[in-house]
Amino acid sequence: LLVLRDVHRHYGTGDTTVRVLEAANLSVNGGELVALVAPSGAGKSTLLHLSGLLESPQSGEVEIMGIKTSKLGDRGRTQLRRSTVGYVYQFHHLLPEFTALENVSMPQMIAGKSPDEAKGRSMELLDLLGIAARASHRPAELSGGEQQRVAIARAAANHPKVILADEPTGNLDPETSDIVFEALQSLIRVEGAAALIATHNHELARRANRIVTLRGGLVVDHQL
Ligand code: ATP
Ligand code: MG
Repeated sequence: LLVLRDVHRHYGTGDTTVRVLEAANLSVNGGELVALVAPSGAGKSTLLHLSGLLESPQSGEVEIMGIKTSKLGDRGRTQLRRSTVGYVYQFHHLLPEFTALENVSMPQMIAGKSPDEAKGRSMELLDLLGIAARASHRPAELSGGEQQRVAIARAAANHPKVILADEPTGNLDPETSDIVFEALQSLIRVEGAAALIATHNHELARRANRIVTLRGGLVVDHQL
């Protein structure tokens, strides 16, 4: 569902050029969870941004559900991103003035669902993630783990085929990390989505279907 072919990404020009990805190749199938473990600055976030169509490579191809995204214009990319990609940011980025339920409903309303439909789907997801009882709470009234699960529910709201998560358990204690990771796993199972998760947590990475790292701008298989 997600394929990166010879993807190249650098920042800056001349002497200050930072070459982050050079001919990176990766393919993630439906129902598969790939963990991306690499040192700080290696390019994990860059790889996720490219995969989620938040940034474009200088060369190479990012393919989502067989669609070659280099051929799309800005509107086409935005449309494809909204309809196929669910992104979980390192810091949850929830809207503080809205409840958990409203945060999860928002992307569905943008996609054209009726409020009732959106509410139904949101409650189903909050239930799946074990936080249905917190639906009417605002982010400030939730624990870090609960906030992160709301962010996962929001990312999954429109049935994404590609789920990308950038250190989703980065600031959580081990027990909460476990709960959040299991929540992600059950979503991937239910939705049959392809998932790429950047993490520093080796325990969790071992539970992925595959572990990859970044070396010299390439994506390579990794053992922990
Ligand atoms: P961390 O674990 O600290 O989050 P990371 O693996 O996610 O690190 P990236 O954020 O992908 O690393 O950054 C990779 C490299 O690219 C770094 O050297 C960074 O300074 C550089 N970089 C990233 N984004 C930009 C940008 N917009 N402009 C210039 N350089 C950038
Ligand atoms: Mg990063």
